[in-house]
Amino acid sequence: MDLGTTRAVRDAVRRLSAVTRARAQQVRTAALLTRVMIQRQVQVSAVRRLARVARGGSDPLPLESRQRRCPHCGSEMLRLGGDVRAVGGLVKTELECEKCGRMFVFVRRVIGVD
Ligand SMILES: [Zn+2]
Repeated sequence: MDLGTTRAVRDAVRRLSAVTRARAQQVRTAALLTRVMIQRQVQVSAVRRLARVARGGSDPLPLESRQRRCPHCGSEMLRLGGDVRAVGGLVKTELECEKCGRMFVFVRRVIGVD
């Protein structure tokens, strides 16, 4: 192979590498956006959450309740047991029952937004 051909091949490989890197970055960005969208849909939709559990999702989901009372034993002695999240106009607070020690998520509307 003469020098000109060698350079042409080298330049072609460099161009292809740049295109491949750009395409790989696009795919990574699209995958991240998809994961974020799915996570958001699962947070908002009870059906999506149940579907995830039915597939054997990794996190066992705590029970959700609209009442500030343990859904397992009925006790009202509760303490903050985890995160407080705002999801689709709702506030979801992870509470731990002081009587039976189990977790649940207390769901309520944002106060003043009705
Ligand atoms: Zn309880």
